[in-house]
Amino acid sequence: MSEHRKWHQENDASKLFDTIPEYIFPVDKAAIQERINGIRPAQYAKTRNFLRGAVTLLSPYISRGVVQLPDLKDMILQQYGYRASEKLISELAWREFFQRVWQAKDDAILQDLRNEQSPITTHQIPAAIINANTGINGIDQSIEALYDSGYMHNHARMYTAMLTTNIAQAHWLLPAQWMYFHLLDGDIASNHLSWQWVAGSYSSKKYYANQENINKYTGQTQRHSFLDVDYSEFADMLVPEILRTTSTPTLSTPLPTTVVPTIEVDLPTLVYNTYNLDPNWHGDKAANRILLLEPDHFAQYPISEKVLNWIITLAHAQVPGIQVFSGNFQDLMALLPEQYPAQQVYYKEHPTTRHYKGVEESRSWMFPQVQGYFNSFFAYWKKCERFLR
Ligand SMILES: Cc1cc2nc3c(=O)[nH]c(=O)nc-3n(C[C@H](O)[C@H](O)[C@H](O)COP(=O)(O)OP(=O)(O)OC[C@H]3O[C@@H](n4cnc5c(N)ncnc54)[C@H](O)[C@@H]3O)c2cc1C
Repeated sequence: MSEHRKWHQENDASKLFDTIPEYIFPVDKAAIQERINGIRPAQYAKTRNFLRGAVTLLSPYISRGVVQLPDLKDMILQQYGYRASEKLISELAWREFFQRVWQAKDDAILQDLRNEQSPITTHQIPAAIINANTGINGIDQSIEALYDSGYMHNHARMYTAMLTTNIAQAHWLLPAQWMYFHLLDGDIASNHLSWQWVAGSYSSKKYYANQENINKYTGQTQRHSFLDVDYSEFADMLVPEILRTTSTPTLSTPLPTTVVPTIEVDLPTLVYNTYNLDPNWHGDKAANRILLLEPDHFAQYPISEKVLNWIITLAHAQVPGIQVFSGNFQDLMALLPEQYPAQQVYYKEHPTTRHYKGVEESRSWMFPQVQGYFNSFFAYWKKCERFLR
């Protein structure tokens, strides 16, 4: 039995995250491949909403560009066929959809995209969310698990976001930045647009879940909480006392001090970042491979030291010989000899690499034909589906 499956079967959700990310999210190729081999699309479709359901736990590898969506899609389709795989592929498509929205809308995703979020009583975060003591056990335990492991199940993310935005009436942006800070799979598009989807600023209605729903999917039996109400009561609900104290967490990324990378002038230079750690990029070609950690990027999108350390470990495991450089893109360019040609510097297209100079290469897409902005996932998915059958 794979470690992944064993872990699912032996652990209950509350104990799950006593283990550290290196166990839950190993960095070596064999363990990641084993996780991919463990995907069971039919079970996934039936159980994915449960905290202990057969989710893939692949998001940190997908977000960091180690696992490519088209490879996953092809493997799943080939092995299990379209019918069994449809649900999982449509979830993978959610990620791609959000990437397309980011590509098209750029920094506009950092603000309310479709509708203004309302009502808002704070632009801070309820302290009870940060301290994991909201009194809703399924949510509090998931937040603690996030701090421990760098992972939170999708449903728990939705619950946390709805409690923060729709019950506590906090604007989504700072809480989204807080969650992003702690996630190994942190992705600005998936994160911020999901928060907006929950808060109703990127969807047609706000998302709510009551205690009964939370109990069902988190495996709790809690009663008589402030969420133990009928759905009809949410619209007029006053902000519960426990959520009224708010706070602004300090979010900053301490970048490591790095040595000046060794650049061999006869070789091309491949610039990696925390969203591109593709182990197969230019395959066996000899190259200067640099993981660029830009202070300007992390000032805008901070991640925790724990997340950064995991990413650096992953980079070393996936891209042999990679050198880590803390500095902005122009600092890296300043290290190249004057005669070094710009056409020898390669990077991948991404909203965070728009200021890079050199040869821009495409990311790989499951649906390269379906581009541009879509107002809703369903409009996007309709277009994608025809390329699957
Ligand atoms: C408030 C909130 C914040 C989120 N922040 C992030 C984030 O920063 N980074 C991130 O990768 N995902 C984010 N998600 C989406 C989703 O929660 C995670 O991708 C998923 O939980 C990862 O676990 P998994 O790999 O086991 O997912 P699985 O359910 O096994 O799904 C497989 C893959 O499909 C993609 N996927 C599945 N569901 C979604 C979804 N709803 N949106 C986008 N992609 C999806 C992911 O790449 C995931 O790895 C967020 C969702 C919410 C509600």
